[in-house]
Amino acid sequence: MPLPSLPCLHCPPDGSPCQRCDDDGPAESVPGQSATIDLGSLTGVWADVFARQEALYAKHQRKARTAWRKAIAALDLAALIAAFRREALMTGAAPAPGTDHESPQAARHHKAELRSLARSMAAGFLMGVNDQPDYDGLLAAIAAALTAAAGEGTAAALGISAAAAGYDGFAWDKAAKDGRSEPDQGTVTGWAARIIAGAVTGLAAALTAGAIAGDSAEAMLKAASAVLRKAGSVTAYLGQAMHSAVSSAMAAAYSALGDIELLDWVTAGSGNVCPTCQDYADKSPYTPRDYPATPHPHCRCTPQPTGGIRLPFAAFAAYMLKRTA
Ligand SMILES: [Zn+2]
Ligand SMILES: [Zn+2]
Repeated sequence: MPLPSLPCLHCPPDGSPCQRCDDDGPAESVPGQSATIDLGSLTGVWADVFARQEALYAKHQRKARTAWRKAIAALDLAALIAAFRREALMTGAAPAPGTDHESPQAARHHKAELRSLARSMAAGFLMGVNDQPDYDGLLAAIAAALTAAAGEGTAAALGISAAAAGYDGFAWDKAAKDGRSEPDQGTVTGWAARIIAGAVTGLAAALTAGAIAGDSAEAMLKAASAVLRKAGSVTAYLGQAMHSAVSSAMAAAYSALGDIELLDWVTAGSGNVCPTCQDYADKSPYTPRDYPATPHPHCRCTPQPTGGIRLPFAAFAAYMLKRTA
């Protein structure tokens, strides 16, 4: 008996077939023409899957930014700015010497020197984050985010399979709660290190820009503290960490609950898939073990069983809500 296929990503929710599906169900996958999810026009279970994931990411990104601000609160940014200005030989409100040199080549050289000075000083400064009393709070926020993401990924594999089999009323929240699993400590500290490295880049860029513009110490302090408070690297890397955890939990669920051995990398975007993700898609399928980690922030690519296989009813039966009459 041929296995029924997963719900098509492009068919309208009213049950009528899209162009790809016409009368014969989803078209066979054509080599070199991998499936892609258009995030701008999601329907059915895919709309639920992505809406839930976005909301979960946003909630944990918010909490992690708060934890980050606490962890860096006691670092003396004014002292860093003062030391940087001394090292860069800045006086008053004039650009760092040499960066406004009349020879473009000399100016470029001085700017490059300044950039590497800013980088090493920013790195030394932010290395101190993990000695801060509130650093544990950041690690806890990352661990909580990854734990929840694992649950959401498990729920996604089950919910997508239930929808494909024609069931509605899937108990998402219960499935997501039951599917949670805690990350190991190395994974958590690894993501914390990426967050800090990203903050180093942002802080160094702010220092360099201020020195080239000849900003005052006060103006540089304001700009640098705005960068650190905005916590862009927390948002970016926690999002990547969570999406990666969702994907690997999906892969694990397909493997453990359905003995599914092959997964496709299905790209997602709004017509803007990056070369890395396209390459991953082209190299599909993967075993659940070898399914790649999410390669960059904002990636929304997702694993799907090759050939439209899905989890059996027994896998998701516990989460089918009884419909009230
Ligand atoms: Zn990509
Ligand atoms: Zn991607």
